[in-house]
Amino acid sequence: MSNRTPLMAGNWKMNLNHVEAAGVVQKLAWSLKDAKYDPEQAQAAVIVPFTDLRTVQTLVEGDKLPLTYGAQDVSVHASGAYTGEISAEMLAKLNCSYVVVGHSERRDYHAESDELINEKAKVVLAAGMTPIICVGEKLDVRKAGEQVPFVLAQVDKVLADLSGEQVGSLVIAYEPVWAIGTGEVATPDDAQEVCGAIRARVAELVGQEAADAVRIQYGGSVKSGNIVDIMAQTDVDGALVGGASLDPEEFAKIVLFY
Ligand code: PEP
Repeated sequence: MSNRTPLMAGNWKMNLNHVEAAGVVQKLAWSLKDAKYDPEQAQAAVIVPFTDLRTVQTLVEGDKLPLTYGAQDVSVHASGAYTGEISAEMLAKLNCSYVVVGHSERRDYHAESDELINEKAKVVLAAGMTPIICVGEKLDVRKAGEQVPFVLAQVDKVLADLSGEQVGSLVIAYEPVWAIGTGEVATPDDAQEVCGAIRARVAELVGQEAADAVRIQYGGSVKSGNIVDIMAQTDVDGALVGGASLDPEEFAKIVLFY
């Protein structure tokens, strides 16, 4: 049994405006409260659109809700003429705990490279927040049985130049791309195979202490019906949840898997 507190993070993607966000956050908090949620058993986070952050912050801080929150992306630039971008400092000012970097939708639709994702992870850490760094293979790689070397090559690049202390403090989300939003879930063994290989690689790269501390999530069609088996795996320390996190009662059940 590890002493890593699981992180159950709901990635809302481009869903829920700030008015809707307020309702979902309140319902989520009520569902958790009703079930006597204990944040020491599993930490709950909502990863929301930029336009929802201030509303979520006001609710979480004002009503002392047992939730953390964060953003779905960040600019590598500190400030200046970068129209449409949001800096790490701006997110830190909103008291974000987490910033997702390298989600497969950013990699696919915005051609984000491992090198850029590494830069993003660094600016998030420098601003005092925790990056959730996404890695994962596409279906052709999985069919070729190459998922472990493929994902480890991503891990090497996204963690480049980070210290053991930094790596130990962050979150890596293993999200097989073929399982995102498709209803296809990796089997618990599939999730363990890759998450275990990631942890072993972290030990090689920056030492065992960091490997023991880093939290590794599984993501891909997680629901209340499959979370228990996924969380039973030794090297799975939580979940990055897309679609199911939009339903506060369903997401609460996922958070309360323990
Ligand atoms: C995700 O967007 O990171 C994700 C895992 O989505 P879903 O849970 O809908 O597959």
